[in-house]
Amino acid sequence: MLRIEGLTKTYKTGDTALRGVSLEVPTGQILGLIGPSGAGKSTLIRCVNRLVEPSSGSIMLGDIDLAGLNRAELRRQRRRIGMIFQEYALVERLTLMENVLSGRLGYVSFWRSLLRRFPGKDIQRAYQLLDRVGLIDHVDKRADALSGGQRQRVGIARALAQEPELLLVDEPTASLDPKTSRQIMRLLTEICAERDLPAVVNIHDVPLAKQFMQRIVGLRAGEIVFDGPPSDLTESA
Ligand code: ADP
Ligand code: ADP
Repeated sequence: MLRIEGLTKTYKTGDTALRGVSLEVPTGQILGLIGPSGAGKSTLIRCVNRLVEPSSGSIMLGDIDLAGLNRAELRRQRRRIGMIFQEYALVERLTLMENVLSGRLGYVSFWRSLLRRFPGKDIQRAYQLLDRVGLIDHVDKRADALSGGQRQRVGIARALAQEPELLLVDEPTASLDPKTSRQIMRLLTEICAERDLPAVVNIHDVPLAKQFMQRIVGLRAGEIVFDGPPSDLTESA
């Protein structure tokens, strides 16, 4: 489980993006972050994996405070966190299989022959994941041959290949049409439920959040202004 306490972020420019945010995400819960542009949603997600350095506060994943780690320790702990991005961040010229296997490394290797060194069980597992996201017939295609929805499915499979304890998902459907967006959200929520995997999803689309999230946290000017089930969300939130 993830437990954030008193998280504050002030950028060098003087912009305060988070003002003492505290938030617990229990195992298996899928939480949607909503709020107007500039509310601090991306900053919150990026602080959790330390793409952005928190100014103060703690970020406990299990019993480790991610906010207090040095670089070497952080690299190890980041493997516990799966990231899914708006723009998929796939390596265009690599196959789906290779993209998913790169999730096992926790980083992308441009040295292709490295992928050949993966043990059979990693390859087997990558097949299973690509099957689970509905892409088993495309494993040898290059990423640049796919549609947006297919690419996000690869993004999901790659994050899972890491066997993460937490998923951080940054606007996963922002580049997709409404129908594909719903398919991707359905897949994501099903997979989290199957694996009892907690997820924090930055979701700009409120109707989509209401349809798929178990819990919604509304941010405004760096503070939590709503926290509850989608059914409690009113127009003003
Ligand atoms: P959201 O994801 O909700 O749109 P952000 O976390 O991107 O919000 O931004 C929150 C605030 O922090 C905004 O005022 C934004 O301008 C500021 N901000 C975000 N990233 C940076 C940065 N790298 N440097 C300075 N200010 C930033
Ligand atoms: P998002 O869709 O995540 O809110 P933005 O378009 O606000 O993204 O920001 C794009 C990039 O610019 C991000 O890396 C963000 O951290 C950075 N950024 C946002 N606001 C500022 C700012 N005021 N000063 C510097 N960088 C910023």
